[in-house]
Amino acid sequence: PGTATLALNDTVAGLRLYRLTRPLAPGDSLPLTMTIDYRELGFPNSDSNTDIVDNGSFISSGYLPSLGYREEAELRSDQERKSYGLKPRPRMANVNDLKARQNTYISSDADWIRFRTTISTEADQTAIAPGYLQKEWTKDGRRYFSYLMDRPMLNFYTFLSARYLEKKDNWVDTVGHRTVPITIYYQPGHTYDLARMMAGAKAALSYCSRNFSPYQHQQVRILEFPKYQSFAQSFANTIPFSESIGFIAKVDLKDPEDIDYPFYVTAHEVAHQWWAHQVIGGNVQGSTLMAESLAEYSALMVMKHAFGYYTMQKFLNLDQRRYLGGRAVESKKEVPLALVENQQYIHYGKGSVVMYALQDYLGEQKLNAALRDYVKAVAFQGPPYTNSTEFVGYLRRAAPDSLQQLITDNFDRITLYENRVTDATSQQLPDGRYQVNFTVKSEKFYADSTGNQRPAPERDYLPVAIFPAPDKDKKPAPPLLLVKRRLVTGENKLQFVVSRKPASVAVDPYHELVDRTLDDNTKDIKR
Ligand SMILES: [Zn+2]
Repeated sequence: PGTATLALNDTVAGLRLYRLTRPLAPGDSLPLTMTIDYRELGFPNSDSNTDIVDNGSFISSGYLPSLGYREEAELRSDQERKSYGLKPRPRMANVNDLKARQNTYISSDADWIRFRTTISTEADQTAIAPGYLQKEWTKDGRRYFSYLMDRPMLNFYTFLSARYLEKKDNWVDTVGHRTVPITIYYQPGHTYDLARMMAGAKAALSYCSRNFSPYQHQQVRILEFPKYQSFAQSFANTIPFSESIGFIAKVDLKDPEDIDYPFYVTAHEVAHQWWAHQVIGGNVQGSTLMAESLAEYSALMVMKHAFGYYTMQKFLNLDQRRYLGGRAVESKKEVPLALVENQQYIHYGKGSVVMYALQDYLGEQKLNAALRDYVKAVAFQGPPYTNSTEFVGYLRRAAPDSLQQLITDNFDRITLYENRVTDATSQQLPDGRYQVNFTVKSEKFYADSTGNQRPAPERDYLPVAIFPAPDKDKKPAPPLLLVKRRLVTGENKLQFVVSRKPASVAVDPYHELVDRTLDDNTKDIKR
């Protein structure tokens, strides 16, 4: 009243149009007051709302009305659109669409926002939102919390409330010369994995701050929510985390197949404080490469340093399976990584394999120096937001001529290999060492968006390795030899001499190159 009049109230579409009494000038502000209530009427057979529950509510800014036209509400399926006489809709705007790059892919209501909130909940629950606690009080049987963020953040926030216990620890920030408190808010009893999660958070904070840029917040908070949903998500200094992907995990590190996923998932989410919350791409193709693939890369590096490069095969194998399985059921078209249209099998599955390979071929320090330069250039920028073309440019400038092809194949093309070891023998030499002979059969293909393949003419340096016999706990051991060799299409006869007794040989032992058949890369040596 006074500042705006209601010009349209479409109660069917839930759309309201207001006309401002005085137009809003650039940089000016206007209070927007709204009352929202949400009520679940009965319950459906499936997919009922589990965001608001007795203990462990988790609601995001998506519940609030948004300004302007909401493109993401449009029908997506080509089939469904056809039945309404609508043309197919591109999944995302072109990577170079400058208009679409005026917004981040997270929000089109606002860019970097100032955030302050007061939230109330039941008397025995703790309510949490991004920012830092300013005040806490109880009134009329409800508990109130007031949070203030001290710096601009993405227009993307969340509110959680539950009967929490708190696990507190500190991360010593050797770059910023400070101590940053980490708090895990958890369901009483769910203490099994708190130490792993805490270790994952610290390792990612250390890795990312040393290699990319300082951590922008004074605190990290991880908040458990119920296992109705199975994911974790990073908001500014605030990480909601499902009980099912960390808090109740039973990790057995004596089992060589087991993965410390509470550690891994926490590292991934903390890395998002850089990859999404510092660097955020425009609302175009390719932008989830700089969020999800780089968060995965950071988490993989944390794992590599914690457990050894020779343990990475199981992670990259899983990532490759995710990619290969995903492309098999792609409903529209597959795109190269640099044009990813938010397909998880591409930005997680392929993205992590590609980034892992790049740090091996280029060198981790060199790659991280390129990432650091990129962060410096685009972190916290205003529109137009960065895109994958700009990002890949940083990689290209860091890479020698000999690796430009690898970048093209991995980011700009859909490239697949079929690498396998067909035979392997060894014999002891008079000097006590062992000569190893083996044959690698290698093929390389380029695929188009519908999966048609053609042989690729270029040949590359591929990793080959010789391994000792596994010890009795069957844990992966460091190789006796690991080198890159230029392989031609077809059969490649290789010969090496190693000083200790070999047991198996491999081509691309850690699955750095997308390979249609993963389980024939390693072969035991014939006795
Ligand atoms: Zn993520």
